Amino acid sequence: MSNRPHSVRHLVVVLGDQLDAESAAFDGFDPRRDRVWMAEAVGEAEYVRSHKVRLALFFSAMRHFADELKQRGRPVTYHELDPHDARSSLAGRMTADLRDWKPERVIGVEPGEHRVREDLTHAAHEAGIPVEWRSDRHFLCPREVFDDWAEGRKTFRQEHFYRMMRRRTGVLMDGEEPVGGMWNYDAENRASFGREGPPDHPSPPAYRPDAITREVLELVARRFGGHPGSLDAFAWPVTRAQALDALQRFVRERLASFGRYQDAMWTGEPYLWHSLLSSSLNLHLLRPHEVLAAATAAFRDGVVPAAAAEGFVRQILGWREYVRGIYHRFMPEYAQRNALGADRPLPEFYWTGETAMACLREAIGQTLSTGYAHHIQRLMITGLYSLLLGVRPKEIHEWYLAIYLDAVEWVELPNVLGMSQYADGGLLASKPYAAGGAYIRRMSNYCRGCRYRPDRRTGDDACPFTRLYWAFLDRHRRRLKGNPRMSLALRNLDRIPKSELREIRKARPEKR
Ligand SMILES: Cc1cc2nc3c(=O)[nH]c(=O)nc-3n(C[C@H](O)[C@H](O)[C@H](O)COP(=O)(O)OP(=O)(O)OC[C@H]3O[C@@H](n4cnc5c(N)ncnc54)[C@H](O)[C@@H]3O)c2cc1C
Ligand code: SF4
Repeated sequence: MSNRPHSVRHLVVVLGDQLDAESAAFDGFDPRRDRVWMAEAVGEAEYVRSHKVRLALFFSAMRHFADELKQRGRPVTYHELDPHDARSSLAGRMTADLRDWKPERVIGVEPGEHRVREDLTHAAHEAGIPVEWRSDRHFLCPREVFDDWAEGRKTFRQEHFYRMMRRRTGVLMDGEEPVGGMWNYDAENRASFGREGPPDHPSPPAYRPDAITREVLELVARRFGGHPGSLDAFAWPVTRAQALDALQRFVRERLASFGRYQDAMWTGEPYLWHSLLSSSLNLHLLRPHEVLAAATAAFRDGVVPAAAAEGFVRQILGWREYVRGIYHRFMPEYAQRNALGADRPLPEFYWTGETAMACLREAIGQTLSTGYAHHIQRLMITGLYSLLLGVRPKEIHEWYLAIYLDAVEWVELPNVLGMSQYADGGLLASKPYAAGGAYIRRMSNYCRGCRYRPDRRTGDDACPFTRLYWAFLDRHRRRLKGNPRMSLALRNLDRIPKSELREIRKARPEKR
């Protein structure tokens, strides 16, 4: 799809997670003098060992978007990935084109990932061409607003940020007060299923691969065959029309029970009532304000209860905007943090799902076949095990960045380093999300099919989560002592007989 222009005024860079035809990059775009530039690069695909689904999603959505731009009359240079190319980088590709075309200026929306921004800015400066990064109006909280909110604070709690955003945007507000008089419906949300399992629920929509997607699936299978994951079930939205359809279907069919079962897990049920909108949002096929508008309209029309609407709004207007603010405010130093001094390698079974621990086998196995796991599987299964074991934050961060179809660094890194690993020492979470097997037993049926017993902390059938939980508290006792939210757990630790604690300390981590 690459074609060479004669002369170019502005080279308008569009990255794989900036697929919005109304983005600020196109303000003032003149099709006679300006040109859109997009590229698939091996360097980006191999920066971490990306799941095949993640690669296919990005390439397919990018190719569809390039076609859409052309239909709108915008000239596009699109570099498809050459399967024989061993090591093209985004910056390298851009440098070559800048040298040939010598545009007056490179324009783009600020890249979401710090590394990409640095690389592209450097490439343009080397070529002697000025770069204009425009602020990203996809997001509801401009970076300056986040910085104003954060300035002078000692702690950066999501709840405080979320309330500021509700007031600022007026979403689910009655003047200065939250609609229904409550900011937070957590007490009504987060039920487990009980022994019977999940009630009947609709399957999420599936989008059959068209010719463009099929070509991409073949390319990825051939060129990145050694990467983790399977492409067999690929049915994710890759165009804006599909993403809008997925949004409507979610609001109509699943939002009403979203909050209630937000934290529940069940064998063979990867999706439940979750929205599955993260990949479309992160690629910018969907805009957060339209997602919020759809959910709040359903509440106003009486189709969904307040608890469901608020639970969902909190994720989009609260968590998503908040982690982005944290990322930009504390990068690049944030990525180096390791407050708990975690120093173990990531277990190999994270890449295969081959483990005797039923919960991990299920969460990882499902991720390998679909590219997806829901929040509690990420936080309280794969994230929790890594936290308790003490895996090096960089390794677990790279795993998450590689393995989920919706992974882009600005959202993945704070969730992994901050929320799940406590590697930022409590900047994001007020305490480590640490728990033993009892939590997993309560929220899922995984323990029923497991060779371990969640209530045992020592012995051959001791649940590794339970054993590691006590070992974690024991190891970090001194650091956690000052945290009032940990005092009950530490008191329980003190009740464990010394001999048992010695056994817990001695146990080796599971190889499988
Ligand atoms: C360790 C860990 C790693 C994660 N990595 C990513 C990632 O790489 N990319 C990503 O988009 N999300 C990530 N999340 C957040 C969350 O798990 C996913 O957004 C969610 O599971 C996506 O599925 P869904 O669209 O069905 O979400 P739903 O459960 O339906 O939630 C609705 C939407 O809210 C937003 N959202 C919910 N929770 C969060 C959160 N904690 N942070 C930011 N946005 C949130 C998402 O846009 C999501 O689509 C991570 C969470 C954890 C604990
Ligand atoms: S017993 Fe432990 S390892 Fe097994 S499924 Fe339950 S929590 Fe997971």
